[in-house]
Amino acid sequence: MPTESTFLLAGLFLLLAAAGWAMGRFGERDDEDAPPPLNIDYLKGLNFLLNEQTDQALEHFLRMVRVDDKTIETHFALGSLFRRRGEVDRAIRIHQNIIARPDLAAEQRDQALYSLAKDYLGAGLLDRAEKLFVRLAQGSRYQVQALEALGGIYEQEREWEKAIDAGQRLEVLGGRSLALQIAHYLCELAEAAAANNDYASARKYVKKAQAGRPRTMRGALTRAHIARDTDDNKTALKLYHRIIDENTYLIAEALPEIVAIYEREDATAELESALRALLKKNPETNSLVAYTAIVNDLGGIPVIDDCVEQYMLNEPTLGEFVELQQLSTGDKGSNASALAKVRGALSKLASATPRYQCQECGFSSQRLLWQCPSCRNWETQRPASRVQFDTVLQHSITNR
Ligand SMILES: [Zn+2]
Repeated sequence: MPTESTFLLAGLFLLLAAAGWAMGRFGERDDEDAPPPLNIDYLKGLNFLLNEQTDQALEHFLRMVRVDDKTIETHFALGSLFRRRGEVDRAIRIHQNIIARPDLAAEQRDQALYSLAKDYLGAGLLDRAEKLFVRLAQGSRYQVQALEALGGIYEQEREWEKAIDAGQRLEVLGGRSLALQIAHYLCELAEAAAANNDYASARKYVKKAQAGRPRTMRGALTRAHIARDTDDNKTALKLYHRIIDENTYLIAEALPEIVAIYEREDATAELESALRALLKKNPETNSLVAYTAIVNDLGGIPVIDDCVEQYMLNEPTLGEFVELQQLSTGDKGSNASALAKVRGALSKLASATPRYQCQECGFSSQRLLWQCPSCRNWETQRPASRVQFDTVLQHSITNR
């Protein structure tokens, strides 16, 4: 089967023929007095195409049709077509061929460099792409696009200092705020420093991250983790509590930490009253508390156990499997053991389904990811607040 690229090139060859190029006007000839070349070049190209030797046909095309003012747009169009079709090697070949022309105008050179940088990016050759984008970001009409691309490369390479620099330059040039993104870069640096036990640097970065607007709660969470890791339980608790007060979706991250600290300090009675107050203020957090408790196996604390029980009794899909409503009228001891069994099963189910989902693109994962790997947006994931029975059922059916 001839590939689409074959048709693409064949189309170009036919267009050239129609335009009279096949009569011997291929490229610039060094020897003006030489007789016009036969259209054998043209026939050779077509022959490659008929034999489906696309790369040879492309080489032939590039030799025949030299880059000049009349043909350069055709070369660019062909290059970007190849890239869009995922044939980056061919796109690279075409753009390198354009750049090789010595008397290229500055604007066309920038266009070719920008196209080549995008080819490299598409081919996953990040180092080469980075070099070209850095050059274009220094001053060309592709400055903004180059800085945007550099931001993406630095995010992938986790080079956060460089990402901050590119982001700040982009804010100046592009006139839009990247404060949230830059705050996340600073949190990345803080987390990396904390992982190296360099808590002084970690605190410095997180302070910067918290200084901008809009703030990310990640800064508060990172600060809380730093306090936890440096045995400053009092500050850690204060921060974790503030997080679940201000931004309930982070309950899934903060609650297990809070429970661990209170248990360590043997002060679960305090936790009891703090959580009761939270649930009274935000009754809708009940299911998230319950779900977090189920997933993280948090138990033995009455307020949390109550949440879990309520959650199980109110879960409509669960009711179809187990007659939970009857439990609430049975005797206390057998109810407790029946509920514990259901809870154990739920915990298993929950660990088999994704806990977080991106609100922009739907990408889901078990762990909270601050940057969505699919759409590359920051802080768009939210936790599931229900065990997704339909997903689990579908999973077990397809695996049967
Ligand atoms: Zn996404």
